[in-house]
Amino acid sequence: MEYDHILVRYGEMSLKRRNRSRFEQALKQNIKQKLKDFPNITVNRTRDHIYIVLNGEDHVKIMEILKGVFGIQSFSLAIKTKSELEAIREGALAAFLEAGTNARTFKITAKRGDKEFPITSQDLNHLVGSHILKNVPGLKVDVHNPDVNVRIDVRREMTFITSKVVKGAGGFPVGTNGKALLMLSGGIDSPVAGYMTMKRGVKIEAVHFYSPPYTNERAKQKVLDLAAKLSNYGGKIRLHIVPFTEIQQEIHKFIPSSYTMTAMRRMMLRIAVRIAEKNGALAIATGESLGQVASQTIESMHAINEVTNYPIIRPLIAMDKLEIIDIAKKIDTFDISIRPYEDCCTIFLPSDPKTKPKKDRINYYETKLENIEDLIEKAVNETETIEIDVNSTMVEKENEFQDLF
Ligand code: ATP
Ligand code: MG
Repeated sequence: MEYDHILVRYGEMSLKRRNRSRFEQALKQNIKQKLKDFPNITVNRTRDHIYIVLNGEDHVKIMEILKGVFGIQSFSLAIKTKSELEAIREGALAAFLEAGTNARTFKITAKRGDKEFPITSQDLNHLVGSHILKNVPGLKVDVHNPDVNVRIDVRREMTFITSKVVKGAGGFPVGTNGKALLMLSGGIDSPVAGYMTMKRGVKIEAVHFYSPPYTNERAKQKVLDLAAKLSNYGGKIRLHIVPFTEIQQEIHKFIPSSYTMTAMRRMMLRIAVRIAEKNGALAIATGESLGQVASQTIESMHAINEVTNYPIIRPLIAMDKLEIIDIAKKIDTFDISIRPYEDCCTIFLPSDPKTKPKKDRINYYETKLENIEDLIEKAVNETETIEIDVNSTMVEKENEFQDLF
């Protein structure tokens, strides 16, 4: 008897009825999309689970991919049998042997979804447990803290038997919560912000500002690679690359250096909002974290945010750098983020940025930028859009984010 199914569990508890159907539909679709390189599998929905029929495909690879699908709470390799006692006993023994080579204790957790099945859950626990005890010498039952828990889920047409539970990425299926535009720099924070945003079910597009010739192709490549990594979790990502040189030069020319950073961020935000509107994204997401750098004080956010009333999502706002780095490593963006190429902002960064910029000051300085509307328009028009998916990545490494959250 062998494992031929993967049983996928999702956070059904927190779902209201109407949302639930949408959620399940999206999750099923996302799983299919992620597993499109395994042509023999089928993905099915029952009343409270999704299960994948492997049909001989490689379960190790598939399970690795499932760890990155938002909306999955946990999943297990499963043996499917007929809903008959003998078949269930054999299946449970096989599942135990597979999971528990060194196990000294175990328990059976039977659940009877089909109330017409003639044996109660309690009785099934005993009948199956005794079969395993008889076949494995030295084994004991421990109902509180067993080495292996064999779960039996009896339904009308079939019974699923599982033993190991693998933690999923949690959250909601990407696409069930609208779309946001992620401001993606080459740094450590914004890719993590993108990951967190997608985890809430939000589809993302990304925008990156770059300033050739002050920033080179490799800096751009870094952002392409980061977007490709993120597409591991959210499917294809459209990346909008905005030429920002002229605007930065203009800012440099007319605005006192202590306010250039504030001015630059306000420009970025204005342009990001235009791009979001054009592409149906209803919010902007950033990697800002309070107190980290000059642009990330409350006063600074206040002055920057003044240019729009578009919703801004800041998933990292209360996180420490070390917590952020931790996630960056788990989602495999960290090594890309620390590649040493300048981005547009570091190059133009003043030595004396105002940490508490004043709104009236920046508004006054901006009046000196006479043709700024034209420059914004031009930057938006000259924006290049690239579609990126996982295969665009240069370096592919195995993902190890099993125990995230
Ligand atoms: P990150 O690690 O994401 O670069 P940071 O700690 O360097 O963040 P800032 O440089 O203040 O912080 O940037 C704050 C946020 O502004 C970034 O997280 C990102 O969302 C956005 N941002 C900064 N530079 C760019 C850029 N060149 N293109 C797009 N977005 C940017
Ligand atoms: Mg940065």
